[in-house]
Amino acid sequence: MMDIAFRKAGSLKAHPDESSLGFGTIFTDYMFNMDYSPDKGWHNPRIEPYGPIEMEPSTMVLHYGQAIFEGLKAYRTDSGGIQLFRPKDNIARLNRSGHRLCMPALDEGFILEALIELLKIEKDWVPGAPGTSLYIRPTIIATDPYIGLRSSNTYRFFIILSPVGAYYPEGFNPVKIWVTSQYVRAVRGGVGEAKTAGNYAASLYASDLAHKEGYTQVMWLDGVELKYVEEVGSMNIFFVIGDELITPMLNGSILSGVTRDSVLQMAQSWGMKVSERKIAIDEVYAAQEKGELKEVFGSGTAAVISPVGHIKFDGREITIGDGGVGPVSARLFKELMDIQYGRAEDRFGWTLPVA
Ligand SMILES: *Cc1c(COP(=O)(O)O)cnc(C)c1O
Repeated sequence: MMDIAFRKAGSLKAHPDESSLGFGTIFTDYMFNMDYSPDKGWHNPRIEPYGPIEMEPSTMVLHYGQAIFEGLKAYRTDSGGIQLFRPKDNIARLNRSGHRLCMPALDEGFILEALIELLKIEKDWVPGAPGTSLYIRPTIIATDPYIGLRSSNTYRFFIILSPVGAYYPEGFNPVKIWVTSQYVRAVRGGVGEAKTAGNYAASLYASDLAHKEGYTQVMWLDGVELKYVEEVGSMNIFFVIGDELITPMLNGSILSGVTRDSVLQMAQSWGMKVSERKIAIDEVYAAQEKGELKEVFGSGTAAVISPVGHIKFDGREITIGDGGVGPVSARLFKELMDIQYGRAEDRFGWTLPVA
């Protein structure tokens, strides 16, 4: 294992008020950095003060979007400890995204070690107010100063940390979803299953349209037939139809969410009928007509579970159930959070204490 160098900050930042934390605007004192070059491989791992990255305007990531990232959280437990939720899955996914984007693989064990070391230094930044957490953003960017198109030879890997507020400060409320059959997030054979920058740039225009129509998120259909549901915003999507919990099967254009997998395992452990399969938007509307569509919700690290109250597709808006939070969504939200915050026994072995 490589040694991780440490450069101390001249002064430390004041910590924000925990009761008014938003998302993604405040960063801690330190970050982890590491570089890649073909001759040295990944080298120079270091924890140093959070600060700007100097780069030439020709730097490849700025032109061709060769960038990948991850998102996970550190949680403050009731006993004052700090724990991570399934961090190895995020690091493994980072390498899968990197493979798709022609980037060199990281040593997953070393990256987990580096993250834990960074968290030990920054442990006082993990907020303790209900629903708050420390969001962790590992990222890899292409750094060659070159504007010809090829994959970069050099890369920077970094991890930055941001204390974030409760996702539902005003309570656990359903969102309104707008289905687009004009724009797609990802295509067959494309990079939809990678957490890569361009996917999010590609989603912005339809998101803006949804917002203008008064909807919170876009529901994406498949890029081939514009028929099957894929994801909602940057979350995975679930439907409760009758007594079956359904989520679209992974097909290359859907991001394989850690929360998605946790939901599947948890629902299965309750004895629910769980299916990963294709689900057409027409099937969703048909189930609604028959009175069998019970719940719809998104899953992701940021929101955990995001219940959907209304869906609009092709000019028709439907209300899911009574427009409120259904029992499956509510139970998943509570039980997942209880494990993440160490309030319930972790019978799946998902949590990793770090301090
Ligand atoms: C990150 C992400 C998700 C959710 O993944 P989690 O691991 O559960 O946070 C779902 N869809 C997209 C497009 C994403 O980027």
